[in-house]
Amino acid sequence: MRLMRVFRWFWLFAFSLGSVGALAADDVARVQNIRIGASEGATRLVLEMSERVDFRVFALDSPRRIVVDLPTLDWPGVDGSPNPDGLISGLRFGQFTATQSRLVVDLDKPAIVARRFVLDPASGFPHRLVIDLKATSAKRFAEQVASDRATKRAQAPTPSAPPVISQAPRKPNRKPVVVIDAGHGGVDPGARGSRAQEKQVTLAFSQEFARQLRNTGKYEVYLTRSRDIYIPLRQRVNIARKHQADLFISIHADAIKRKSVRGMSIYTLSETASDKEAAALARKENRSDIIVGIDFDDQPPEVADILIDLAQRETKNLSVKFANLVVKNARGSTRLLERTHRFAGFRVLKAPDVPSVLIELGFLTNRSDEKQLRSASWRRKIAKSLVKSIDGFFSSSQQARMTR
Ligand SMILES: [Zn+2]
Repeated sequence: MRLMRVFRWFWLFAFSLGSVGALAADDVARVQNIRIGASEGATRLVLEMSERVDFRVFALDSPRRIVVDLPTLDWPGVDGSPNPDGLISGLRFGQFTATQSRLVVDLDKPAIVARRFVLDPASGFPHRLVIDLKATSAKRFAEQVASDRATKRAQAPTPSAPPVISQAPRKPNRKPVVVIDAGHGGVDPGARGSRAQEKQVTLAFSQEFARQLRNTGKYEVYLTRSRDIYIPLRQRVNIARKHQADLFISIHADAIKRKSVRGMSIYTLSETASDKEAAALARKENRSDIIVGIDFDDQPPEVADILIDLAQRETKNLSVKFANLVVKNARGSTRLLERTHRFAGFRVLKAPDVPSVLIELGFLTNRSDEKQLRSASWRRKIAKSLVKSIDGFFSSSQQARMTR
C-alpha cells in the first residue's frame, strides 16, 4: 500500500519535511465527531466525516493498541476525545506525517477488529467510518499483531540500509547553528493541564524563542516543527545533525500527580539518571514514539544508540556547560525546580556530536505554572533569558567551536 510505503521511506525523506508548508484545510476531509458505543464484549468506534476516505487498520502490542491510518484530515471540531468506554481505554489522533493522519486506540483488554466499514450519509448523519472491536484472548491478539506485521512487510519495499548522515566539514566563520525542538505534536499531545496541551505550549514557546534568537542576527536557527505535526524522536535528532547544529534545545512541559509541584528544570544526557524522578521523566518522554503507534520492528536498526557509545566527551561537557548557563540566567526570572539541572537517558538528546539539552518549562498540572505557560509575556521573558544563555555559551566556546 502506498501509505505504508511512504511511512517506510519516511526516514530517508525526513529532512525534506521542514519545507512542507501548512496544508490547506479546504482540500482535506474534516472529522466532525468521534463516538464510542460499548456493549458486553464489543465496542464500536465511529468517526463522522465530511467525506469518504481510505483507511488502514492494524494491531500493535506493548501496549496493546489498534492503529487507524488515514489521509491528512482536518480535526477541527474534535478538541477533546470522547470518554473511553468498553474495550477502549484511550484515544489519540492528529497529523502523523506530512501526508497521513493517525488515530491510536488504546485497548483495555485484548480485542480485534471484527468489522470495519464506511457508511454514506443517512438519517442526518454524515459519512461514517465504523470500526467494531470484539474482545479476544491474549493469544489471538498476538496472532493478529504478527499477521498485520507480515502483511506490512510483504507490501513494503525491500529494506535498505539505514540512512547515513554524513557530516560534511563545517564551513569556517559560519554563524552558530541552533536547532529548537518543540516537543510532541500532532497525534502525540504530550502532557495535559486543565486547559493547555503540552504540544501547544511547546510550539508557542519555541516560535517565540526562535524569533528572538533570529532577531539577534548572530545565529542560524531551525525549528524541528513549526506546526501541529508529529515528528519521531530519532528524526528530531537527525534534523539537528543534518543542520550540523552547534546546539540542540528540546522544549517540553511536564505533568505530575502532585499539583503543588512547580518550576523549570533542565536535563542533559546520561545513561545513569541523577535521580528516580529524572529516570521516570525520561521514560515518559521516550514513550512519545510508542504512544503514537510506531512499530519498532519496522524501523532500521538503532543507529543513535550505537553512535552514542562513541559520543565524544566534549559534547557532553558542552551540554552541561550550557545547562549551567540556563539555570544561572533563569534564576530570578521564574521559579526553578529544586536540583534544577538533572541527568537522564532522553532519546532526543542522543546526537553524539551536537551539544543537547531538554528543558521542562514547568508543570501543566500546577495552576500557576499553567497560567505562565499560556502567557505570551512569560514566554517572552523566559525566551529572553535563554537567548542570554546562548550568547554566553557561544562567546566563551568560540575558540572550541572553530577547532571542531
Ligand atoms: Zn514532553
